[in-house]
Amino acid sequence: MRTDMDDAQGTGDAVAHDGGRTDEVDRYADGRAARRDEAVRAAVEQGLLDDGNPLVGLLDVTGIRESAAELRAAFDAVTAPGTPVLHAFAVKASPLVPVLRLLREEGIGAEVASPGELALARAAGVEPERTVLDSPAKTHAELREALALGIAVNADNPQELARLDALMAAGGSRSPIGIRVNPQVGGGSIEALSTATATSKFGVALRDEGAREWVVQAYLDRPWLTRLHAHTGSQGIALTMMARGAAETYALAEEINRRAGRRQVDTIDIGGGLPVNFASEASSPTYGQYARLLSETVPGLFDGRYGLVTEFGRSLLAKHGTVVARVEYAKSAGGRPVAVTHAGVQVATRTVYAPQSWPLRIAAYDAKGRRKEGPAVVQDVAGPACFAGDLLARAQSLPLLEQGDHAAALDTGAYYFAHHYAYNSLPRPGVYGFTPTGTGDIAFATVRAPQTIEEIVAESGAAHTDALIG
Ligand SMILES: *Cc1c(COP(=O)(O)O)cnc(C)c1O
Repeated sequence: MRTDMDDAQGTGDAVAHDGGRTDEVDRYADGRAARRDEAVRAAVEQGLLDDGNPLVGLLDVTGIRESAAELRAAFDAVTAPGTPVLHAFAVKASPLVPVLRLLREEGIGAEVASPGELALARAAGVEPERTVLDSPAKTHAELREALALGIAVNADNPQELARLDALMAAGGSRSPIGIRVNPQVGGGSIEALSTATATSKFGVALRDEGAREWVVQAYLDRPWLTRLHAHTGSQGIALTMMARGAAETYALAEEINRRAGRRQVDTIDIGGGLPVNFASEASSPTYGQYARLLSETVPGLFDGRYGLVTEFGRSLLAKHGTVVARVEYAKSAGGRPVAVTHAGVQVATRTVYAPQSWPLRIAAYDAKGRRKEGPAVVQDVAGPACFAGDLLARAQSLPLLEQGDHAAALDTGAYYFAHHYAYNSLPRPGVYGFTPTGTGDIAFATVRAPQTIEEIVAESGAAHTDALIG
């Protein structure tokens, strides 16, 4: 039987495919863990957590900068000098304007997939030439706006391409435009996040009858199609499968350029999807491992003939976020200790609804925010929502959580506390970035203020109170 932890380790097994290299460890792991402990202590001490706000999200600014620098260095190390490389952060992984602004300062652009995400990227000041639009359901208005702004667009399907034809005929655009293809290389361990299965909803399914020829002809007919895009999946996809997706995309670009008799496709967008290790502290696999595997599998992608776009999301942010919740009550049921906390389905939706696929490590802190010592006890860590399955962790071994302690859900910087689910009208928690001051203290900056009860009422139709009885 597979356990939660088997699954978590499964996401890291891609390390075994690193061309036999085992020399790379995550040299940032210890510093990250130490900063996090300091931040939890400081958050309690400085009153970010109290009776009115028993739940917060914390973001490690230093760690985010480190990951961004690692990503840039990993691709710099394998690309020919002068190759244009755009790392566009997948905004859906952390749709917070200050985070996008921080990444922009670190040289990272934005991959957006909705009008909201585009607006966030623009609010953060991400330049149009560093922005890529990729949704599978772009409306007329979205396409028009993207072309007017000059942001890159990857068309998902023939009908979208027809809309682009009309817009290009009507006025043209400086937007780089490509087609998203589905190399159909298969799925990973998490069905819901596998985008390159035979029947995936994304892109043009390349192995379907006639599809490849249709794509090639689409390029031959449209000199303005200059990019090719694939995103093989997120979390649960082995590195080798991701590299195969990139290899298939590269082979198609070569075929298009051969048939066109010129270098029409000048940029290949390889998507994101580097898996995150949720089972322990180390980042694994690393960007370095993936970039080297790619350069060994598809050397032609890195020899300077193609510009590159990447779209990493989870791997840039996950390790740098921590949900901290106060233990409101500690009880016992059927012989199992249960800590009832304020973090549940509203901030860890995937973990609560699909616990096998999304196990989280929980760290125990005491009432003052100090790391809790003591013998490991098998216990459940529950959330505040009113259904039995609202558990942040099931049967996890950790020092016994008691009333007034704090439970921290680790590696939650992507797709967790920034992805609020409004069950039970629970408020969106405040999100704070933290940085060591250098004098032994921690400075916090508000990234997103906690949602107020008044805001919940207003967002729940208070302006239309009598709408249904009139
Ligand atoms: C979600 C998504 C990404 C980012 O995936 P991660 O697993 O977070 O790296 C990149 N590109 C596209 C098109 C996506 O849908």
